[in-house]
Amino acid sequence: MADCLFCRIVAGEIPAKVAKRTADAVAFHDIDPKAPVHVLVIPTRHVPAVRDATGLEGEAMLGRLLAFSAQVAGELGLDAKGYRIVTNTGPDAGQSVDHLHLHVLGGRKLTWPPG
Ligand code: 5GP
Ligand code: ZN
Repeated sequence: MADCLFCRIVAGEIPAKVAKRTADAVAFHDIDPKAPVHVLVIPTRHVPAVRDATGLEGEAMLGRLLAFSAQVAGELGLDAKGYRIVTNTGPDAGQSVDHLHLHVLGGRKLTWPPG
């Protein structure tokens, strides 16, 4: 989608510090990290939010995205002490970019419940 920030990152039109990339997903470091490690994992295909990844193809993509996020977390050294994977959907959750993204957060003790 032409006016989508994360589609533009996928296309390389906006620079990002990419941690890992496959044909259908990109992991890149958040520009405003909320933890020592804060990576965003996105599908290369434009999907607004997790609820929009429907049907067999959407569900399979979600599975791959979650598994990919765990691989990225491991490669960034988070397996020993753990990490959190979270996705915000809609205004109450504070979603600010309408292209599905999983936050991978780690490198410090994370509080629960989130605010
Ligand atoms: P949300 O608030 O939608 O759950 O998460 C969006 C995230 O995207 C935020 O954590 C924000 O810091 C990050 N972000 C916004 N613009 C950019 C950008 O241009 N580059 C990168 N790397 N991250 C961004
Ligand atoms: Zn997009």
